[in-house]
Amino acid sequence: MSRRFEWEREVAVQAVRDAARLCRAVAAEIAPEAMAKKDKSPVTVADFGSQAIVAHALALSFPDDPLIAEEDSAELRQPDHSAILDRVVRHVRAIENGQSPKLDADEVCRWIDRGGSGEYRDRFWTLDPIDGTKGFLRGEQYAIALALVLGGEVGVSALACPGLDAVFYAVRGEGAFVVPLDAPEEPGPPVKIHVSARTDPALVRFCESVESGHSAHGDAAAIADRLGITSPPIRMDSQAKYAVVARGEADIYLRLPTRADYREKIWDHAAGAFLIAEAGGTVTDIHGQPLEFRHGRELTANRGVIVTNGRLHDPILDAIRELQIV
Ligand code: AMP
Ligand code: MG
Repeated sequence: MSRRFEWEREVAVQAVRDAARLCRAVAAEIAPEAMAKKDKSPVTVADFGSQAIVAHALALSFPDDPLIAEEDSAELRQPDHSAILDRVVRHVRAIENGQSPKLDADEVCRWIDRGGSGEYRDRFWTLDPIDGTKGFLRGEQYAIALALVLGGEVGVSALACPGLDAVFYAVRGEGAFVVPLDAPEEPGPPVKIHVSARTDPALVRFCESVESGHSAHGDAAAIADRLGITSPPIRMDSQAKYAVVARGEADIYLRLPTRADYREKIWDHAAGAFLIAEAGGTVTDIHGQPLEFRHGRELTANRGVIVTNGRLHDPILDAIRELQIV
């Protein structure tokens, strides 16, 4: 049977898997001393390298599709960043593995800059090359998040979560799936994932950002208290939060505004939110509005993000109203 978006799905899953291999190779070079000195260069190298790998894969298969991605090469091209650029090129070459023999710094920068698209189009991709940079540096959760948006709705998404050893993906109307990050020679069939059916507050678990600057921890605690949830929050970086709710390990992910002027970025949510939708859950903003992926780089029509297994959605939105969280 021929399936919709089969080629898009295949390219997306392979691209985030290759990007995750690059990120792991960069992480393997991080010496504990560099971590202690808070050296940010590994995340810079992995960020640009990951974007180059995914942008190039999309350019080969879908040359006319625009890409809205987090990075551009302007800073990387500055002379004082040449050592970083050299490292990016070395890592990208290792992943491309002889397929681009003439690959040089200029070409890598051009691949990265394919992600500079900002305007809304009827069909485009959006990428976070490393979501959860702090988690990457801590050796914990981070993600490579890629989504294809058609007519303002996500049609395909792929989310590599190296800290979970998994790639999650979803295709519109077909559901959400997980496969191992390191594909074995004879990979088994993908495993279909589904959100939980939990509603008992004594069993319900919620996730939030590690960073209190990215989501208001105090407001989340107040909501949990209203619902009678007693378990402490599961704090993790990146869209791995969406993945754990999508496969039913947690039931809620709260992202509550910390600043009046912050707008969520499209690459921080398109892939994960779609995974939840295809896994049977619900995603809205704090006012119950669906996330709108038709406004370019930011979700200008939305405030915060509320993710649940569906059954818990209305009680959470009620609590937000009662607590007057805005
Ligand atoms: P997380 O790992 O869930 O904490 O989210 C990481 C993402 O938070 C980054 O990719 C940033 O784009 C985003 N971010 C940065 N500042 C804020 C903020 N004030 N509120 C919400 N998200 C933010
Ligand atoms: Mg991000």
